Amino acid sequence: MAQNVIEFNYTLKNKAGEILDRTSDRPMAFLEGSGAIIEGLEESLATMTAGDSGEVIVRPEKGYGFRDESQINTVSKSLLPADEVKVGDFFQAGGDQHAPVVKVIEVDGDEVKLDANHPLAGVDLIFDVEVVQKRPATEEELSHGHVHQAGEGGCCGGGGGGGCGC
Ligand code: ZN
Repeated sequence: MAQNVIEFNYTLKNKAGEILDRTSDRPMAFLEGSGAIIEGLEESLATMTAGDSGEVIVRPEKGYGFRDESQINTVSKSLLPADEVKVGDFFQAGGDQHAPVVKVIEVDGDEVKLDANHPLAGVDLIFDVEVVQKRPATEEELSHGHVHQAGEGGCCGGGGGGGCGC
């Protein structure tokens, strides 16, 4: 099946109507089937065509999953890369940029309770979406597994020599 690149604008709200996230100056673009966006949103966008807009409600099972209490761990404050730690702080749980982000939910003396659940786990997500463009992915995009935006001179910030740095 041909894979498309879909560009869309969105506003993400929770059930209380609070805005959690939105596209601003440019639409979000993703390659179908690449796993770049959550399943429930991709399924709905796949049935829409350019110019369509509407509301998409994504339940946790097709969003960021459910909260998992085993993802909450208590560690010694000395393990954290900061001197001052307070509830609500976020830390990356490891060296590389894809390491999970953990949130401080409790500080008790020298012990810190960390929650590695996704902040949107267990949340019903309400997206107002507008499909801007849908086009077949290029061979290069398919082999890289991600979108190459026009006019950016190479993807992934690797502009040197026009090649893609990934
Ligand atoms: Zn690339």
